[in-house]
Amino acid sequence: MPKSGSDHRLARRILAGLLAGGVGGTAVNFLWGSGPGLDNFIRYVTEPLGQVFLRLMIMVVLPLVFCSIALGVAGLGDLRKLGRIGLKTMAFFLLVTTLAVGIGLVLVNLVQPGQGLSEAVKSKLLELYKGEAEKKLGQTPTEGLGIQFFLNIVPRNPLAAAVQGDMLAVIFFALICGVGLTMIPPGRAAPVIACLEGVGDLMVAIIGLAMRLAPVGVACLIFSVTARFGFELVLKLGFFVGTAVVGMAIHLFVVLPLLVAWLGGVRPGPFFAKAQTMMLTAFTTSSSSATLPTTLTTAEQEFGIPREISGFVIPLGATMNMNGTALFEGVAVLFLAQVFGIPLGLGAQLVVTAMSVLMAVGAAGVPGGSIPLLALVLTTVGVPGEGIALIIGVDRLLDMCRTTLNVTGDLAAAIVIARSEGLLPPAHRLETTQGALPE
Ligand code: ASP
Repeated sequence: MPKSGSDHRLARRILAGLLAGGVGGTAVNFLWGSGPGLDNFIRYVTEPLGQVFLRLMIMVVLPLVFCSIALGVAGLGDLRKLGRIGLKTMAFFLLVTTLAVGIGLVLVNLVQPGQGLSEAVKSKLLELYKGEAEKKLGQTPTEGLGIQFFLNIVPRNPLAAAVQGDMLAVIFFALICGVGLTMIPPGRAAPVIACLEGVGDLMVAIIGLAMRLAPVGVACLIFSVTARFGFELVLKLGFFVGTAVVGMAIHLFVVLPLLVAWLGGVRPGPFFAKAQTMMLTAFTTSSSSATLPTTLTTAEQEFGIPREISGFVIPLGATMNMNGTALFEGVAVLFLAQVFGIPLGLGAQLVVTAMSVLMAVGAAGVPGGSIPLLALVLTTVGVPGEGIALIIGVDRLLDMCRTTLNVTGDLAAAIVIARSEGLLPPAHRLETTQGALPE
């Protein structure tokens, strides 16, 4: 890979930005608490700067998703291959997401974090975050995950779907276009493919520009979060936050690397070393969508995954494969059930598992994207939706962690699928990186 030197420098600078922002924000919060001066500084300086970075990344997502998927599918060539890879991809998504929820549920049953929350803290949180929780509950889709949800994946008007940021519908349209491209004469398809490739490259170039702002953008994003945050709440909800974070850490540092080594043939060391810029971007932006361009470049440039696989698996994963989100949903539902004294037996926990997996498919890859859907799971198993008020104050912190897990799961999926098709270049596989050979 020709570009690794500058990439590692960028990763180091992003990490420096993350540390500077995190330490600065925490110190400011600790020393001055919240006050109008700090509020204004965040509102008029760090938040807008962070937002510029975030928006530059999100700006390219729609065209990039469209081009990547259409080209990926067109590159696969025929419908049988698409069907095979599509099935494998979905099976992998389902497997890892279910494993993630399983880990969360086992932990929450062992730790029983809901028992540790005192009545006083509970009523204070309910009061404090009632308004915010109601706002989120207002965004809960009323049709749930019924037939309409699935029907909406097929857009009546692809442009309207794009304008509304309805990713599943855009993905569907891109898939169909990709299939269509394999059905028209090659001479007619070629200019369309060339155009899509050009647009894709253009978007990647814009991402390159945006990433130059990453160290500053990341510092500002993290400063805004930590300066406002106050770790008091984290301590109060310590058992809940701890359970969720430990669950995510197990999935991130044990389950995924094992799967990537076993099914993808890539050792954990190189896997994480090459994924670091992507993971840092996810951690700081709390958005799978904003991280998507970086995930794609990581897959293609760091792991040599061909576009036909990465362009298909990764955009799909950014929307559908959210391991961290599913794990979080499972832990949150059981935690709130414990707090409200609602016993959830094995049957109910299986419902929670299935729903958490589905919600992770439906959640938007934006900060806090899963919260409105969490209410749906809660009400399905009879836990009051307002319970969200209890956890919303620490959601940003958990969001950063679950988004990191979400995108790492997507990269893992791309590696595994590429390997299964014999399309992962040998330099990136276990066999050739063993022993003293440099990575
Ligand atoms: N922020 C998450 C993501 O973008 C979604 C969520 O769980 O809220 O992947």
